[in-house]
Amino acid sequence: MGKIATLPIAEIFHSIQGEGKLIGVPSVFIRLAGCPLRCPWCDTQYAWDLSKASRFSIDQILEKTALLPARYVVVTGGEPMIHSAVGRLTKSLSNAGYHVTIETSGVIYRKVQCDLLSLSPKLPSTLPDVKTYRPAVLRKLIADHREYQVKFVVANESHVREALELLDEHDLFDRRNVMLMPQSSAFSHYRRHAGKIARLAQKYDLRFSPRLHLELQIK
Ligand code: SF4
Repeated sequence: MGKIATLPIAEIFHSIQGEGKLIGVPSVFIRLAGCPLRCPWCDTQYAWDLSKASRFSIDQILEKTALLPARYVVVTGGEPMIHSAVGRLTKSLSNAGYHVTIETSGVIYRKVQCDLLSLSPKLPSTLPDVKTYRPAVLRKLIADHREYQVKFVVANESHVREALELLDEHDLFDRRNVMLMPQSSAFSHYRRHAGKIARLAQKYDLRFSPRLHLELQIK
């Protein structure tokens, strides 16, 4: 008999989707551990360390998910695409009837079955030591998925201009699916800066995504 695939889980919890197109939708979040990017503003640093995660089979993950009252599931991280079994997880969740979102930075391509591909490519200037913006990978990912969104995490106007340059240079995305999100990991910072990012979104005619979980101070 083959070895049962397991995935390292940082946490599984029930909350309200705080970002993007499905903002406000009650959802189960399956947070896979491990991320090679190490963004300085990361608000889930506790998920970086694989050695602290518990490993669960896909059946066990489905069992834990089924205990929580939501039809929407978000597979997130960390960076879930580092795990070869992530495609099997999303397929199993879809087969179980869930609406599945996968959150990824878009640095690794994998075939995954989901209802919403949620990309959060990192601006090259914010992580200069890593090749964070990979147009070939992003192109393959969005070719697989009818529904997608692209969230650029920005802190200032030069970040917005950099995002626009990438959008113009590579012409990968339908602009209606692109949004700006304030770079914040704490409510106090978010409260001071979200309005500025919203005004930049207005200025450059891009969609703004709030971060509702920070505003509400919930997980
Ligand atoms: S890609 Fe996401 S999980 Fe990884 S370090 Fe950056 S913000 Fe954190």
